[in-house]
Amino acid sequence: MQGYTHTCAACDAKMKIHDRYVGRTLRCTACGTEFLADPTLADIDDIIDEMVPKQERSVPWLPIIGGVTLLVLAMLVLSQSDPDGFLAKLFRPSRSAGQFAELTMDGRDRVPAAMDQETAVFVVNALEDADPRSLALLKDQGRIIDVDSGTRIKVIELVDRDGTARARIVEGQWTGRVLWVPMVAVR
Ligand SMILES: [Zn+2]
Repeated sequence: MQGYTHTCAACDAKMKIHDRYVGRTLRCTACGTEFLADPTLADIDDIIDEMVPKQERSVPWLPIIGGVTLLVLAMLVLSQSDPDGFLAKLFRPSRSAGQFAELTMDGRDRVPAAMDQETAVFVVNALEDADPRSLALLKDQGRIIDVDSGTRIKVIELVDRDGTARARIVEGQWTGRVLWVPMVAVR
C-alpha cells in the first residue's frame, strides 16, 4: 500500500499517512500532537512492526488502524476546508511542525539535544530543576550533544505533553541530524 505508518511520539497512536500528505503538517488524531509527514522519519519500531507476521500480534491493530485512518481522513478534510479554523487555533503553539526555527536558550551558548525522546524528557526536567549535574551525566553517557545556540532547525514534531520537540538540524556541524530538543529552545 502507498504511504507509511506514523507513530505518535506523545501517545503511540499509529496513523496511516497517504503519500500525498508527505511534507505537510498533520496532527495526531488521538492527542493533537503536531508532526511533519515524512516517511524517512518513521521509527525503527515501525519497521520492525511491519516485519512481524500479523497473527503473532496480540493487539487487534486492524480495527484500530481502520478507526484511526477514518479520523485522519476526517481531520484532513477539516483542515483543508478551514486551514485557520477553530481546531488549528485551539492547538497552535508558537512554532509548528514543518516550520524552520532557531535553537536558542537565554543565557546559554549551547542547547542540549538528545538522540531520543526519553532522554529529551530528562533534559527538560534537568533544565527545569536547574540541575547541571544530570545534564553533564547525560553528556558523559553520550546521550546528548551540545548544539550551538542560534542553529537553524526544521521542526518535525512538537510534543506539548512533555515539552519536547523533534527537529532536523539544517546548518552547522550537525546538519541533517534528527534530534530531540526542549520545546522552550525552539524559537
Ligand atoms: Zn498522539
